[in-house]
Amino acid sequence: MNFEEIGVMPPIVKALREMGITAPTEIQAKAIPIIKQGKDLIGMSKTGSGKTAAFGIPLVEMISPGRGIQVVVLAPTRELVHQISQELQKYSKYLTCNIATVYGGVSMNPQIQEMAHAEIIIATPGRLLDHLQRRTVSLSTISHFVLDEADKMVEMGFIEDVERILSATSEERQIILFGATLSKEIEHIQQRYMHEPVTVEAELQVKEDLLEQYYYNVDQREKFSLLVHLLKKEKRDLTIIFCSKRSTVEMLTKNLRLNGVKAEMIHGKMTQNRRLHVIDQFHKGKTSVLVASSVAARGLDVKDVSHVFNYDLAQDPQEYVHRIGRTARAGESGKAITLLSHQDHDAFRQILSRYRLTVQELPKENYSLLRFVTRFENQQHRRDGGFHRGNRFQREEPRNERRFPPRRRNFSRSLTRESS
Ligand code: ADP
Ligand code: MG
Repeated sequence: MNFEEIGVMPPIVKALREMGITAPTEIQAKAIPIIKQGKDLIGMSKTGSGKTAAFGIPLVEMISPGRGIQVVVLAPTRELVHQISQELQKYSKYLTCNIATVYGGVSMNPQIQEMAHAEIIIATPGRLLDHLQRRTVSLSTISHFVLDEADKMVEMGFIEDVERILSATSEERQIILFGATLSKEIEHIQQRYMHEPVTVEAELQVKEDLLEQYYYNVDQREKFSLLVHLLKKEKRDLTIIFCSKRSTVEMLTKNLRLNGVKAEMIHGKMTQNRRLHVIDQFHKGKTSVLVASSVAARGLDVKDVSHVFNYDLAQDPQEYVHRIGRTARAGESGKAITLLSHQDHDAFRQILSRYRLTVQELPKENYSLLRFVTRFENQQHRRDGGFHRGNRFQREEPRNERRFPPRRRNFSRSLTRESS
């Protein structure tokens, strides 16, 4: 099947072809005709299955240029808003279509200007609600409303904001909701706001036969060494390493760099500009290793990710699937490697029951030479003027022994010297 057959306009087909997209994915083939008919739609498919184009293509077709805001797309994170906006810009290369990108953490005025000339607004719920409350935008005339990653928005507690925004739109608008799973909150939206929605579903696009999933049983203290060993041994393209906590993201990145792995990190507490910059560098292949917290990387689409490491275990199977969905996209193969230590076993059983993971023998080579510098050691190190060989993995220094406040500059200098 091709895009013409599902009624996509020639200028868009041309733009898609230039992006290397020639045939619709399952969710696109199912959703595009229904959206074009103006029906409300609930689309369920896994990460990486092409949901952005499933709503993006019909919407850029349906708007009338110069007639004010007609479409609102809500997405849970700034990065997603940015990414969706870029995608839609590409589909509409040969059409006239003005897109306003609206999210928090940056000033409001440029967004007001952008919205004044836009047909489509792509926004995070919080910031759009801000604009609505200040009356810097009106949504009373919009005709299409999209909730992307609706399940994630529920999870992140945005559902009330979403409802407030929905209430500011006309009853007549078409509502399109996309996600990976249904929940009772989504059913509530469906019952309260949608008109006889059509539900379409598609299979997991991340093909299990293209994705190798395995895990290592490894002592917590050897985890880092094993990771570095694998990073150096595996033939990799871009690699994402997931951690569940921001502090682990930071520590791990620091330690990877100390061990000669060029790594960048992304987590929720970084500034917007910094996050976009890091993702951009990763996209371009300038950084090959990205250490990420799950939330920060949710839904992001980066091509050529060959490896996903779970340095910390995903909290549940859903999270696991979102993480591994970063690799083996669009027909490429990939590996998802989980480093499992004793404390993870309970949570892991659930994941193991649903997905095909095989256990891998630990490498025979001696890889356990690396040091993982903890906060404790940073301080100890400064005090001793060199590495303290004992207490390798002690994490916390007792409060009353803390003699020096941490000083970054010295810390990184002395570490560089030590590692070289
Ligand atoms: P989802 O939102 O379902 O997680 P995305 O919309 O982010 O998925 O798309 C994942 C990737 O697949 C993107 O790089 C996108 O350009 C690509 N893609 C989308 N549609 C197609 C298609 N029909 N053929 C090939 N690649 C596609
Ligand atoms: Mg998406």
